[in-house]
Amino acid sequence: MTKCIPVLWLLSTALSWAQHGVVQMNVDARDAHRKLIHVQLHIPVNPGPMTLLYPQWIQGEHGPTGPIADVVNLRFRANNKTIAWRRDSVNLYAFHVTIPQESAALDAAFDFISPVDAGGFTEGSSMTTELAVLNWNQYVLYPQGTPVDQLRYQATLQLPRGWHFGTALGVAKESVDQIEFQTTSLAMLVDSPVSAGAHYKTIELGTFNGAPHYIHIAADSERALAMPPQAVKQYKRLIAETGVLFGSRHYRSYHFLLTLSDHVASFGLEHHESSDDRLGERSLLDEDLLTFYSELLPHEYVHSWNGKYRRPAGLATKDYSEPLRGDLVWMYEGLTEYLGSVLAARSGMEPPELFRQRLAYVISHLEYQSGRSWRPLGDTAISAQILFSAREDYSALRRGIDFYGEGQLVWLEVDTILRQMSRGTKSIDDFCRVFYGGSETNPVVNPYTLDDVIATLNRVQAYAWADFFRARVDTVQTGAPVHGIENAGWKLTYDDIRPGYWDTNEDQDRNTDLLPSLGLIVKSDGLVADVVMGGPAQKAEVAPGVTITSVNGRKFTATVLREEVQAAAKTSDPIELTVRSGEYTSTRKVDYHGGERYPHLERSAGLADMLAEIVEPRAKQATAP
Ligand SMILES: [Zn+2]
Repeated sequence: MTKCIPVLWLLSTALSWAQHGVVQMNVDARDAHRKLIHVQLHIPVNPGPMTLLYPQWIQGEHGPTGPIADVVNLRFRANNKTIAWRRDSVNLYAFHVTIPQESAALDAAFDFISPVDAGGFTEGSSMTTELAVLNWNQYVLYPQGTPVDQLRYQATLQLPRGWHFGTALGVAKESVDQIEFQTTSLAMLVDSPVSAGAHYKTIELGTFNGAPHYIHIAADSERALAMPPQAVKQYKRLIAETGVLFGSRHYRSYHFLLTLSDHVASFGLEHHESSDDRLGERSLLDEDLLTFYSELLPHEYVHSWNGKYRRPAGLATKDYSEPLRGDLVWMYEGLTEYLGSVLAARSGMEPPELFRQRLAYVISHLEYQSGRSWRPLGDTAISAQILFSAREDYSALRRGIDFYGEGQLVWLEVDTILRQMSRGTKSIDDFCRVFYGGSETNPVVNPYTLDDVIATLNRVQAYAWADFFRARVDTVQTGAPVHGIENAGWKLTYDDIRPGYWDTNEDQDRNTDLLPSLGLIVKSDGLVADVVMGGPAQKAEVAPGVTITSVNGRKFTATVLREEVQAAAKTSDPIELTVRSGEYTSTRKVDYHGGERYPHLERSAGLADMLAEIVEPRAKQATAP
């Protein structure tokens, strides 16, 4: 529906509820089915010129992803009169107004267009007729000049009739028509999204040191809410294991906001006291998918410590107009990726075999990433804001968001070095307790630099940590990044047996991944997504963007391609690919006879199995009290 709902103005009689210094905001989400959110703000002001900002740089998204193009119907009023506004011609997120004399408050109103079936983070699709994930940064304006942790906001929210909701925000009052939240800083408001829906379920995961934990599930159907009892037990173990890892918590309560829909953008986004976790509708019903995505919630939960409580100095910004600097994103995301996978295994969500399959997958993909020959890991972190939205074609040459996968391997190596150097008495767990633990606190931001990380590592176990990070992060690395798994008593091998993880990954991405063999990834319709530089396909002049229409004269399907790759291992004839590029077709002869190849981890004789020690459960109590 494209019909616009007129903006309703706050009447002057309604202004009496405005408190001095507190911005009152009302978000009306009752038109969720129309993909429109109506916003009203009542902002205490002084007469004279003023600038209002719409959030641009979004924490956790590592970039300027505030969806300003979806802000429409913007109007300002003071003393019941319309006020003219002008957008800044350089900063498109800034609006200039002049507050008339005698005016103590400015009323702002706008509509937000919630995107339809689009990718991206929170700026992507976040709403269906059955559910919504509401991120406050999309519905606020704030006065320029005051840090966002000092601005005070009091929000009210209206949801479609019969919908339930979950959030870390404190509720002051609730009626059938609206929810009134407690006054909080703008920083905490934006850090506390709300999930809501017609099909909704809240599961308690236990209370530790006075902090309750919940998982709130919103789904596109009632049946999709059925989390298996075994999974509930594992999430309770996750809360216990994470508490043991860090030693203390820095939130008042914690809320996983799990959204299950095939029509919202799929990702996870971290917050101090909650996380916005989005998966396909049937993710809880399919045992394979449940295990495949078992690291999502642990990853976002770890961010409450690594990313929210302790935050790289370049990401600890005063407001949403200050650019986020990603120098340490390889630690912010890489260590979180590592700890998330370790905790998923310790909690029983991820069998040790799958933990190893994922590592083999990550290492193998980095091995064929020729971009590693020109671009160090640290540059992918600095470039996070451009790499998240980079295209898939030539992504191996460009490098992608490798601060997750390669970052994880750097931290596995750190863990193995700590264990080796201390003769098994120290590990990454000791670093975590010193760096992220301390006394229990409410949500606060404690910024850090690389020097702080190195100093803490040296306190745990003296080592040439500065040189280590210079080599792994700032220097171009070639070859498979296998140091961590080799220290851990394992080695990378290849054979023609496709691991279950590889299979599910192909299924989810709707592609056939022949990177280690033919040197290409092809979509289910034959479109070549990427090629390995110097690999068999690339040597035969197959480029990303062409479509394979047939293989050795037979119509392309993933099965036909795999069968012909296998058959070519027994002959010296090249594999003939017919490819379409634009309006032309041609034949490409790929001289490859190595069969299918998939990576595995294999034990190294004579070395202790450190991976088994790493995933060993630590929490004595398997479930919360
Ligand atoms: Zn993350």
